[in-house]
Amino acid sequence: MKENRDYFPVNPTGGKLTGIRGEVVTFIADPFLVNSESCYRHIEDALIVIQDGIILEVEDYKSIISEYPALDESNIDVYKDSVILPGFIDCHVHYVQSPMIGSFGDTLLQWLNEYTFPTESKYKDKAFADEVAKVFFRQLLRQGTTTANVFSTTFATSVDAFFEESERYNTRMITGKVFQDRNLPDSLKDESAEESAELSESLLNKWHNKGRQIYAVIPRFAPTSTELQLKLAGEIYQRHIDEGVVMHTHLNESIGEKAWVNELYPQFDSYTDVYKNFGLIDKRSVLAHSCLMEESEWQTLHMAQCGCAHCPSSNLFLGDGEFSVWEAKDAQRPVRVGIGTDVGGGTNFSIPRQLNEAYKVSMLKRKNISAIHSFYLATYGGAEALHLEKTIGSLKAGYEADIAVLNLKPSEFVEWRMQFTDSIFDKLFVLQTLALDNMNRATYVAGKKVYDQSREQEFMYVSELNK
Ligand SMILES: [Zn+2]
Repeated sequence: MKENRDYFPVNPTGGKLTGIRGEVVTFIADPFLVNSESCYRHIEDALIVIQDGIILEVEDYKSIISEYPALDESNIDVYKDSVILPGFIDCHVHYVQSPMIGSFGDTLLQWLNEYTFPTESKYKDKAFADEVAKVFFRQLLRQGTTTANVFSTTFATSVDAFFEESERYNTRMITGKVFQDRNLPDSLKDESAEESAELSESLLNKWHNKGRQIYAVIPRFAPTSTELQLKLAGEIYQRHIDEGVVMHTHLNESIGEKAWVNELYPQFDSYTDVYKNFGLIDKRSVLAHSCLMEESEWQTLHMAQCGCAHCPSSNLFLGDGEFSVWEAKDAQRPVRVGIGTDVGGGTNFSIPRQLNEAYKVSMLKRKNISAIHSFYLATYGGAEALHLEKTIGSLKAGYEADIAVLNLKPSEFVEWRMQFTDSIFDKLFVLQTLALDNMNRATYVAGKKVYDQSREQEFMYVSELNK
């Protein structure tokens, strides 16, 4: 039976209560569109009450602790000198490119041929896919990322390995089989458009809404699909969109790519128009990059309520385009925007480190982004881009308890530097700018501490935590 999935509810069933206590920052609205001071909640000494993976309440500790006699020091994790935030959301990343991050390269199209395609060809081997998925999840959870919108590759093995690892942590993750039936090596190419559509839909039926997993229809980008394949992908997306299935692809990343799309699809007005024509532009569509946009394309994305993934470290590394966040957020036709690492084009797995690059990319366009804006993009903005803003991305009653805990003193120097800051957002800006690799102390997924920097076993699966 089809079910409308604007909201993914997991109702508490009366399980044990747990708590997290400390300084909380969370977002409730878009600071690019309304007064930024009204977009967040900051509670200096907060208690987050969690039951069955869901947040029951987030309020000042002293004002609510008496309402929860079941909570005491045995089941409340207390964090000092830290900021507790919603888990970060990575709106665009290729887990299968983890083995090639940091490859010396050139522009996008050369880089795809030289590094990406040979690496992705290896994922027919399930054991290889399993190993990479394991490494990838550890990198994300170490950095406090709890949801990612992920490219797998051509083969079912790449999708199965990813979702199997996600199930072990109970993370809310999105991936799917990548559609690609032309302009790439035979070792990676779909056998036919029809075969790829059949495989994608069978994986969708296998994984979508299984626990917290979400399936995505993923044409790599317009140049690597025939028109028939884009049409079939669009049909699957439209058949399942109301069940919460996502469409994920690349758009307007580089000049060479844009010119190639014009050559392959001369009958369409724009790159966005190619996807739109095949039913791929709709409310759960996520477009990575969107750097070289025409005004009509922004209008199309706005009207359809699509999300864009801003991937600054990748754009700088490949020297392609630059995303204009203020242009995307034009109040006349705002577009949903989140942050993507785009590993392996991106150079690290950390969302705060992407914020550091996003700030610089914006400054090249002579307009800054405050810490309020950037941490919004990293959390609630990402949830909006994925159309999951009623489920994740905020620390609020009824939301899934996916949480990151940033250390305000991750190094001797940062600890010293922090004495010269005033507000919490001054501190967060320093953290994102200095962008240390070790600043996330702990990561909670549906209320379970799956990563703890100070625990002997840093990473634990849910089955190990439940022992
Ligand atoms: Zn990408």
